[in-house]
Amino acid sequence: MQAFCLPKNFLLVLVLLLAHCITAAAAPMSTENGKEILVLNYHKIDSMDDPLSIAPEDFDAQMKHLKENSYHSITADQLCDYLEKGTPLPTRPLLITFDDGYSDNYHNAYPILKKYGFGATIFVIANDMGKRGYLTWQQAKEMSRNGISIQSHTSNHRPLSKLSNSQAAKELKESRQLIQEKIGQPVQYIAYPEGSYNRLIKQLTEKAGYRGGFSIRYGTVDTASDRFNLERIAIFRTSDTFRDFLRRIHYASNYEQYGWIEP
Ligand SMILES: [Zn+2]
Repeated sequence: MQAFCLPKNFLLVLVLLLAHCITAAAAPMSTENGKEILVLNYHKIDSMDDPLSIAPEDFDAQMKHLKENSYHSITADQLCDYLEKGTPLPTRPLLITFDDGYSDNYHNAYPILKKYGFGATIFVIANDMGKRGYLTWQQAKEMSRNGISIQSHTSNHRPLSKLSNSQAAKELKESRQLIQEKIGQPVQYIAYPEGSYNRLIKQLTEKAGYRGGFSIRYGTVDTASDRFNLERIAIFRTSDTFRDFLRRIHYASNYEQYGWIEP
């Protein structure tokens, strides 16, 4: 009977969704587009009452959870080698990123990352380095020798799509040059300020010598991802930071696959 068709289908869909949820939470995640790679996005690690400030004890609890659940930190190079050439990744690959280059990344995040044996990538605003509240080149250089990659968040943190082509190209090129000169390591990745991105920005980014770009679009990275518009999972301070951290890392793939509302 027609009347029973809808509820039956609905139940089937619900069962499939739940089965996927349980699988995603319990096993190494993979789809027809290969492994699902978590790229976490942090800003400040301090105790300020701000959604973008994760308290050091909360950050520690999150890193502990990832360690205990067998996540392995990877570099942006490893991620791109996998996407371009299929170079194998460790199980449960995880890329930990920080935007803006705040000095608390050195004082608070760095010791916790070391404690759990995780590497990370910090996208710094080249012209803000050394200013009050931001990393110094010395701190960044020290971290870069110990598993923390220093990459670009442009020179002045202006949304690239709102600039003229020549200004956007300048932001991309000059930040890359300055960071490479100060740190002495290749700079090949960018996090777009405010996630501002379009097809033209992609061309300019590629032309400036970058190998990949990170957005603020919520989701996991897999082989269907655009190397110049990679998804990330921003982590926020909330009324229940740890519960929301778990929800955001576990639901990211479902959100992309089924169009769920962002938790
Ligand atoms: Zn930023």
